[in-house]
Amino acid sequence: MVTTTVTPDRDWTTGEPVILVSRCRSCAHRWYISRDACPACGSPDVVTVPAAGTGQVVAHTTVHRVAAGAVDEPGPVGIALVDLDEGVRVMGRCAPETVVGSPVRVVFLIRPGESDQPALLPFFEAAGP
Ligand SMILES: [Zn+2]
Repeated sequence: MVTTTVTPDRDWTTGEPVILVSRCRSCAHRWYISRDACPACGSPDVVTVPAAGTGQVVAHTTVHRVAAGAVDEPGPVGIALVDLDEGVRVMGRCAPETVVGSPVRVVFLIRPGESDQPALLPFFEAAGP
């Protein structure tokens, strides 16, 4: 992973098509979901960097019954746990036929948001041959 001193503060949850990964400069621990201090050692010396968005599927499931009100998504819907190349595990949508162990890369689906801004949703698509 390329380390930078830039600490972005916006990710897919705030409308930017990127997954952010945090790294502790004291113990090198990495994690997903930003925190002000390292969950391993407590150090506040933390840097956050954009992930490449590539990784490997470690688990997935298929949801055949969609949530009430999800009129734009008839289902079935795949949900994957992915180990990113940066060493953190993230969750996102995937195709129902996704295979555990397969390489994937993230793209971002644009969904109607609760405000006037559309919401982004990570979707892991096949990246291998
Ligand atoms: Zn640490």
